[in-house]
Amino acid sequence: MNWLTNFVKPKLNALVKRKEVPENLWNNCPTCGNMIHHKDLRENLRVCMNCNYHFRLSAEDRIKILFNNEEFNEIKLDIIKDDPLNFNDKKKYKDRLKEYRKKTNRNDAFILIEGTLGGINIISGFMNFEFMGGSMGRAVGSAIVKGTKLAVEKKLPLIIFTSSGGARMQEGIVSLMQMPRTVAAVDILNQNNIPYIVVLTEPTTGGVTASFAMLGDITIAEQGSTIGFAGKRVIQDTIREELPIDFQKAEYLKDHGMVDIVSHRKDLKKTLINILDHL
Ligand SMILES: [Zn+2]
Repeated sequence: MNWLTNFVKPKLNALVKRKEVPENLWNNCPTCGNMIHHKDLRENLRVCMNCNYHFRLSAEDRIKILFNNEEFNEIKLDIIKDDPLNFNDKKKYKDRLKEYRKKTNRNDAFILIEGTLGGINIISGFMNFEFMGGSMGRAVGSAIVKGTKLAVEKKLPLIIFTSSGGARMQEGIVSLMQMPRTVAAVDILNQNNIPYIVVLTEPTTGGVTASFAMLGDITIAEQGSTIGFAGKRVIQDTIREELPIDFQKAEYLKDHGMVDIVSHRKDLKKTLINILDHL
């Protein structure tokens, strides 16, 4: 009996029972349907090896990939008073902030770095889509201003990687004020002849597209990324016209003169170093 219960039964169970597979072990490519193991996807910089679809990359991963084998320091951002409008929707804005801070281990949706790229010193900023969709409120605006001030002070080029759903609606007019604020900050870069490069990544939309994201001396877009102000459906309904399939995609914007370079994620670092070398 012991032999049956202790040995045969577990063996049979192991044979019959389906193995529990963690849900996030495999990623399904939304374009070609290719099933990709998360390790392979990570090794391939989160790009589908079959069709080159670029999966969204977190700011943390992007920093790791970009500064791989190079020096970098994260710059401490100023503490900004939360929730200027005392805003509640389904949840209190203060509670949402708490939740995202716990989830991302960051205070808000922007990471500022001083580092070297191909041996050239730079200041770079990364919008963090993981934090409330990378939305731009007062904290993000302040971080961008801080980045531009540092670039001017240290006479270093500024590179900003955008990934954002736009303005942070929980901050209402205060978030909209970040648009002129960041535009003015970029203008100070121009006045001081500081190179400003923008890398648009999936997705860059709304108030971010309508402000500092489109003001780069050189604008690079990551292959296949969505870049636009209003959503495609909203525009279609307004103008009552069918829009092309690739409307608001990086390649379409390059064809129409809004973007200078469309880059595969694998070539992005090389492209940036090339530009910095020329500057
Ligand atoms: Zn694919």
